Amino acid sequence: MQCLSPSVPPALAVKPHLLRQLLLTLLGIALVLGCGYAGYRLSEAIGIRELAAGGERQLELNARAVESEIGKYTYLPSLLELESGVSRLLLTPGSYRRQRLNDHLEGLNQRAGSLAVYVLDLDGRVVATSNWNQPSSFLGEDLSFRDYYKQAVRGEPGRFYGVGSTTGEPGYYLAHGLRANGRVIGVAVVKVRLDALEKRWADARVEAYVSDENGIIILSSDPARRLKAVRPLDDADRERLARSLQYHWATLQELQPLASRELGAGLQEVRLDGPAGQPLDYLQQTRALNDTAWHLTLLTPLAEQRRTAASHGLLAGVVCALLIFGGLALNQRRKVIATRLAAREALQRANGELERKIAERTLDLSASNLLLQAEVRERQQTEANLRQAQDGLVQAGKLAVIGQMSTSIAHELNQPLAALRTLSANAARFLERGALDTAGSNLQAIGELVDRMGRITGSLRAFARRGGDHGQASLEQAVEAALFLLHSRVEQERPTLHREFAEARLAIDQTRLEQILVNLLSNALDALREQPRRELWLSGAQYGASYRLEVRDSGAGIPPDVRVHLFEPFFTTKPGEKGLGLGLTLSASLAAAAGGSLVVRHPEEGGSAFILDLPLQEPRDD
Ligand code: ADP
Repeated sequence: MQCLSPSVPPALAVKPHLLRQLLLTLLGIALVLGCGYAGYRLSEAIGIRELAAGGERQLELNARAVESEIGKYTYLPSLLELESGVSRLLLTPGSYRRQRLNDHLEGLNQRAGSLAVYVLDLDGRVVATSNWNQPSSFLGEDLSFRDYYKQAVRGEPGRFYGVGSTTGEPGYYLAHGLRANGRVIGVAVVKVRLDALEKRWADARVEAYVSDENGIIILSSDPARRLKAVRPLDDADRERLARSLQYHWATLQELQPLASRELGAGLQEVRLDGPAGQPLDYLQQTRALNDTAWHLTLLTPLAEQRRTAASHGLLAGVVCALLIFGGLALNQRRKVIATRLAAREALQRANGELERKIAERTLDLSASNLLLQAEVRERQQTEANLRQAQDGLVQAGKLAVIGQMSTSIAHELNQPLAALRTLSANAARFLERGALDTAGSNLQAIGELVDRMGRITGSLRAFARRGGDHGQASLEQAVEAALFLLHSRVEQERPTLHREFAEARLAIDQTRLEQILVNLLSNALDALREQPRRELWLSGAQYGASYRLEVRDSGAGIPPDVRVHLFEPFFTTKPGEKGLGLGLTLSASLAAAAGGSLVVRHPEEGGSAFILDLPLQEPRDD
């Protein structure tokens, strides 16, 4: 039964297992997301470390390349010190000498592959230059404002990146103070182009830039980043740089990352505008270049690594989800197995219980079987005893009937005997007289009387004989025999006899059938005595495999208190020696022994009717 708190309406109540499932689902989702995120972060960290390691190597290589590109020309201005034409021109200028030096410088510039080679006097004016014959020639130009000039005049190596004030062409300036007799007499300058590096980066798809001592990008694989400041410039800086014309008239903008994250020394994650203008994340690695105050910065795009990290994150999420599903499946399987085991155990228990009950029941049954067998044996014994008693009773009944009939038989026999005595005495007298005819007719009458007496005694003998349960009997013969036995009583009562039956062959011993009929007819005759209307019906008909004979009389009927005792042995309502109370009992038992029955009916019109059912004899094949 669900127990709800009274404040929660039933419709809003969440079943605990549903809540648990919801929480578990949310937990699962959180776990999958967490795994995905952790996978992503881990992959990203590893990827960045690998990228940083690769970038470090790349940075080193590119830094070397930049350094060698710059270093390649360092010796060139100092070489001019060895040129006698240079010192001569500086000490004693002259147009011829200038021209010769111009030619020499032009040749030198061509061979070295530099942008320009030129010589300045102590005032910073160009006295000879490789581009003497070009419109953009520096010849005569005052470059004393250039830092490289100032450095070289001081005897220091002049290094400078700038945009040419005449040509507007960016380049790297290397300057050397030319000495004669221990003092500086002029300055030799070589302007080289470094854009080959940019081309190389572009070819190798490397994103990099070089920023100078002012933090201005002087070389960049992406032209858009060129001449931008990598660190914030204040107004004073801007003023100073504008005045130096180092970057010609370029407006110096700042290259400010849209976002940045410090990952380590010289290692940053930054978001910059990419080559196509869209913001891109980069791993930024910076290294100072040797012999200069410049820095090389390498930008490694993180997009690819991010994609890899995302796919790793996705993979981790999927693996986590699979593990969770696997775990759930295993758990489910464990539950199913546990349920099956429990069910099997329950089944085994039930089986055991059933077997135990069956064993108990079998034991009970065999005990009751033994009891039943004992009872059957007892019943069989009782039946045998009863049968024996019944046989005895039948015999006793016969004797009783014989006893009853002996009077009428004696009467039957006395009559012919008296007649015989008279007839034989008369016959003797007629013989003496010679009246042979009369004597003959007397003798014939004597013979007839003897036959009749023989029939009487014969039927008595047959009645007393024991018969078997089964046999065959003719209904007509049996009726005839019974009526014959009861002849004197029939004569006495003189009932109207209705014979309403046809001959039938019945499966019962002939004598037994006669015995039954004698009993029934004798009772009927008794009932008819002293009745004004005396009628006796013998009606029969076939019912399936048996034959039904009804013996009905128009007697006074049987009173209700007598009816219940009719078939009890020795029950009689007849006075003195007249009744033994065995007739109906014997008749019923004889009928039953032959597979039939004897019952009583009490007709509404009065009298009594006894119905005898007996099996018909099966017709023989022959
Ligand atoms: P018994 O004839 O020796 O008395 P029975 O067993 O033949 O013994 O009959 C038992 C009793 O049943 C009789 O005493 C009589 O009261 C009654 N009975 C039998 N047949 C008839 C009948 N047809 N009409 C009236 N009563 C009968």
